[in-house]
Amino acid sequence: MEATEELEIVIAGGGICGLATALALHRKGIRSVILERSDSLRATGAGIAILTNGWRALDELGVASRLRLTSLPVQRVWDIDLDRGKQQQAPVSIGEARCVKRRELIKALSEDLPFGTIRFGCEILSVKLDRFTSFPTLQLSNGSSIRAKVLIGCDGANSVVADFLELKQKKSFSSCSVRGFTNYPNGHGFAHEFVRIRRGNILSGRVPVDDKLVFWFIVPRFYPTDSKVSEDPELIRQFSVEAIKEFPSERIEMVSNCDLASLSLTHLRYRAPWDILLGSFRRGCVTVAGDAMHVMGPFLGQGGSAAIEDAIVLARCLTQKMQKVAQEENGRQIMVQEIGEALDKYVEERRMRLVWLSTQTYVIGSMFDASSMLGKLLLLAILAVLFSNSTHHTRYDCGRL
Ligand SMILES: Cc1cc2nc3c(=O)[nH]c(=O)nc-3n(C[C@H](O)[C@H](O)[C@H](O)COP(=O)(O)OP(=O)(O)OC[C@H]3O[C@@H](n4cnc5c(N)ncnc54)[C@H](O)[C@@H]3O)c2cc1C
Repeated sequence: MEATEELEIVIAGGGICGLATALALHRKGIRSVILERSDSLRATGAGIAILTNGWRALDELGVASRLRLTSLPVQRVWDIDLDRGKQQQAPVSIGEARCVKRRELIKALSEDLPFGTIRFGCEILSVKLDRFTSFPTLQLSNGSSIRAKVLIGCDGANSVVADFLELKQKKSFSSCSVRGFTNYPNGHGFAHEFVRIRRGNILSGRVPVDDKLVFWFIVPRFYPTDSKVSEDPELIRQFSVEAIKEFPSERIEMVSNCDLASLSLTHLRYRAPWDILLGSFRRGCVTVAGDAMHVMGPFLGQGGSAAIEDAIVLARCLTQKMQKVAQEENGRQIMVQEIGEALDKYVEERRMRLVWLSTQTYVIGSMFDASSMLGKLLLLAILAVLFSNSTHHTRYDCGRL
């Protein structure tokens, strides 16, 4: 039997959240190890919109200026309703909004990490608390095990760490989303605007990343019945073109001429707002962050930014306590207690922010799903009452690292 390796802080998953958490801790002088099941860093989803709150958080991590160099600021948002023949500019200021290539974001978050921080090919199968030490022990698929002082689950929507915390199962909207890039070698000629077009229950959005590259997505209110579609880029393209066949030709051409390698199709999932309000996000020295904690529909473009905010708050709370533990040099029990308090503070600080984000995305997603006009109107009224300023979420400031 292999001996159990002992590590201080283990982060499960090397996506946006895991990398941001490791970087935030590194900036505070704390070492961590990321266990990533893939053999390399992944960047599924082509582009990612980052709004003012996300840029604040990236500034704290010291990577925002690098990313600003390769992404254009969005100046306006347009909403076009083809059924009602209406076109309107979003009435509120969007602050700083840019679409970044996911690959660039992952690169920026990972390149300042010390060598050896990320361990690839390390799939965590299960987590349990050691009976004697109360520290988490991780069982990996390669047969080895690791004992950590702190475990942060950034392992996405199907999180093993969330299962360990016994969080309620996430739910699914009926919609899916296809995302991709289209490259225009001679320049796309579009204004630096985010343009959303809606027809029936299908939404199509496009936003330029730079002068030649456009990020686009479509959200049809259904999921392809053939499971092979999501694995085959050519089938995803055919599915997408079919879904928007009644949209303007500019959109159809954009999707037809896309970069096949950039395509992804995702069924939209969420953790219910009430499960975020009531969920127990800490057990011993284990917690979750990012999609593992609060997977949400993409309707506000906030899941990734919220994950980066989690990283900042978590690193801030942990650092304060870890420094205290180091000074006191007390026993293991004190350490478990201090780390537990740090994680509780993190959860407390994040909870209501996430409840509001998940509520807004849940109501918008439910509007997409609703088949009756009455249901849609009711949800619209809820949105108008609770979120009269629809971009208020971008003003959030997660504070200094
Ligand atoms: C259609 C769509 C559009 C979106 N658009 C936006 C947007 O515009 N702006 C925005 O801010 N957000 C957006 N989001 C949300 C954003 O993509 C996610 O919130 C973000 O990627 C979550 O990052 P994460 O690191 O928490 O999870 P993930 O990106 O899922 O990363 C989890 C990582 O953990 C690894 N892992 C999983 N299980 C294990 C295991 N057992 N052991 C080891 N490793 C494991 C995985 O391989 C992966 O690398 C969108 C989401 C969707 C679906």
